[in-house]
Amino acid sequence: MNNFTFHNPTIIHFGQGQISAISQAIPADAKVLVTYGGGSIKTNGVYEQVVEALSGHEWGEFSGIEPNPQYDTLMQAVQKVKQEGYNYVLAVGGGSVVDGSKFIVAAAEFDGNPWDILAQGAALQTALPLGCVLTLPATGSESNAGSVVSKGNDKLFFFSPLVQPAFAVLDPQVTLSLSARQVSNGVVDAFVHVMEQYVTFPVNAKVQDRFAEGLLATLMEEGPKALSTPQDLKVRSNIMWSATQALNGLIGVGVPQDWATHMIGHEITGHYGVDHARTLSIVLPAVLKFKTPQKQAKLAQFAERVLGMQAGSDEQKASQAIAKIEAFFQSMEVPTRLSDVDLGADNIDTLINSLQQHGREQLGEHGDIDIATSRKILELAC
Ligand code: NAP
Ligand code: FE
Repeated sequence: MNNFTFHNPTIIHFGQGQISAISQAIPADAKVLVTYGGGSIKTNGVYEQVVEALSGHEWGEFSGIEPNPQYDTLMQAVQKVKQEGYNYVLAVGGGSVVDGSKFIVAAAEFDGNPWDILAQGAALQTALPLGCVLTLPATGSESNAGSVVSKGNDKLFFFSPLVQPAFAVLDPQVTLSLSARQVSNGVVDAFVHVMEQYVTFPVNAKVQDRFAEGLLATLMEEGPKALSTPQDLKVRSNIMWSATQALNGLIGVGVPQDWATHMIGHEITGHYGVDHARTLSIVLPAVLKFKTPQKQAKLAQFAERVLGMQAGSDEQKASQAIAKIEAFFQSMEVPTRLSDVDLGADNIDTLINSLQQHGREQLGEHGDIDIATSRKILELAC
C-alpha cells in the first residue's frame, strides 16, 4: 500500500426529511445563493423543502445549470454572486449542479481569468463555502473535491480541497422522481468509479479491496432492482450511499488509480453529447479487454469475490468477469458499444485528436495508455 493522508471533511446528513438539516448546517448570517438545474426540484417537492429550511436565512437563487455544466452559464452565476454579495452557495441537484457550483465558488473568489482554473489547473487561494442537497446518486461529487465543467467540445476538470462541500444532504426519497435513464446512469457511473480505483495493479490493500468489492456487489444487486421496483426506498438508500462512497476518497487511498475510462469517456460526451455514464459503459469493457494481461489477477479476484466464480483459471475468470460486467450494463439498459449510440470508426480520429489536444497521452494507473493505445481501445469499443 502506498503512503496516504486521508481527510474527508464533508458532513453527511442521510435519510428522509434531512433537507431540514440545512437550516442549522449553513451559518445564520450567510447570504445564500441556491443553485439548481432545469427545474426537476420544482416538481418533486425538493424546492419547497429547501425554501422552508432556509426561512431564517437571506437567500436568492440561480437556475439553469445544465447536465454537463457549461462554463458560460456558470460565469453568469459568478457575476450574480459578485454583484449581489452572496457568501455561501447551496447546490441542489445532481452531479452537474454540484460540479458547476464548485466552479462558481472557486471562480467567484479567483484573482485572474477563471478559465485558467480548468485549462491550466491554476491553484486556488480561496473559495466560497459550499453545501449541497444531492438529488441524483452517481458522481460522488457531493463529498469530493473534483468538478467537471464543459465549454464547447472541451470537457475539463479541476480539483481543490477548497471546493469540497462542507455538508451534503442525501435523502433517498428525492431520488424516486428520477427517470429510469438517470437511475441507470447513476448506478453505472458509481460502478465505474469503483472499478477505476479497484481493477488496478499491483496492490496489497486488503481493506480498500474489500470495501470496493462491497460497493460493487451492492450496485450490481440493487441497480437492476431500482429499475424493476422503482418505488423501493430501501433499494434507493443502498444505491445512494454506495454512490457517495464510490468516490469520496476512501477506497482510493494508497492504491494506484486508472481513470482512463473516464478520460476517454469525457471526449465522447464533449464531442457527441452522450450521457457521461453511457460513455463509461462503452469504454470500460474495451479498456478491461485491452488491459487484461496486466489486470487479469484483479479481474479474477473480482470474479471470485463479487461474482462468486470459483472454477477455472485466472484467464478464464477474467474474461468471464468482463462478460458479466457487460451483461450487468445491458441489464441497466446502457450501451456497451459505440455503435449503440450511432458512433463508430469514423469518429475515432476526432476523439483521438481531442485526447491529444487535452494532453491525455499517458492514461491508466501506470500512464502506459498512450494515444496509440487509446485508439485501439476505441476500435475495440466499436
Ligand atoms: P446530472 O447531469 O446532474 O443530471 C441529469 C438529469 O437528471 C438532469 O436533467 C436533472 O434535471 C435530472 N435530475 C436530477 N435529479 C433529479 C431528480 N431527483 N428527479 C428527476 N430528475 C432529476 O447527472 P449526474 O449523473 O449526477 O452528473 C453528471 C455530471 O457529473 C457529468 O458532467 C459528469 O462528468 C460529472 N461527474 C463528476 C464527478 C465528480 O467527482 N465531480 C464524477 C463523475 C461524473 P434538472 O436539471 O431539472 O434538475
Ligand atoms: Fe463519473
